[in-house]
Amino acid sequence: MHATTPQQAWRALRDGNARFVTGRREHPNQDVDRRAELARGQSPFAVVFGCSDSRVAAEIIFDRGLGDLFVVRTAGHVVDSGVLGSIEFGATLLASPLVVVLGHDQCGAVTAALKAHATGQMPTGYVRDIVERVLPSVITAPPSTPGLGAAQRLDQVSDEHIRHTGQLIVERSAAIARLVDQGRCAVIGVAYRLEEGQARLVSAIGDIGEVGIGEIESGESGVESSPAGGGEPPR
Ligand SMILES: [Zn+2]
Repeated sequence: MHATTPQQAWRALRDGNARFVTGRREHPNQDVDRRAELARGQSPFAVVFGCSDSRVAAEIIFDRGLGDLFVVRTAGHVVDSGVLGSIEFGATLLASPLVVVLGHDQCGAVTAALKAHATGQMPTGYVRDIVERVLPSVITAPPSTPGLGAAQRLDQVSDEHIRHTGQLIVERSAAIARLVDQGRCAVIGVAYRLEEGQARLVSAIGDIGEVGIGEIESGESGVESSPAGGGEPPR
């Protein structure tokens, strides 16, 4: 089966992750025939823009193989022009119907941004650039509440950063926004848990055939109407 719609692509990823979680991986598309077939061209069914964390390897956690995923990674999945160009390449020229922002718990980049926000001390070198690009999510996350543990606070900000990154992609890239409006592509946010191996849907811009999940937007990609305070109204 080859996924050609956002709905099919999400289903393929969800099914693959379920196999990974339960230890029943099938290792599809990793044989010699597949390798030879792909030498003629690629048609990946999803663009995965994830954190560089060595424990969050897209093909492994979604149980996929060669030619399936167009993968872009930076620490803390922070966006720059090279990232946007890579995502646009996958979604437009390779016609991938789904863009996935892949974050995770215990993320070092999000932890560093929380620390910088709390102390006012920025890291040096180019690590500073990473932290600067995560900080807006620390600011727009729901305010911390008394009694909230450090790990829970980290999860809260991580979810906000995943959501925010998806919005940013649609806001910055006119090409992606157009594809989403046409229903040919969707941009979703997924949070991966290191211990359990589970990939949980956090946000969606566009129709992926799933309803009833918090913070879901659907239909038009008009993210400019989003409130600055984090959660999206259902529409
Ligand atoms: Zn990370």
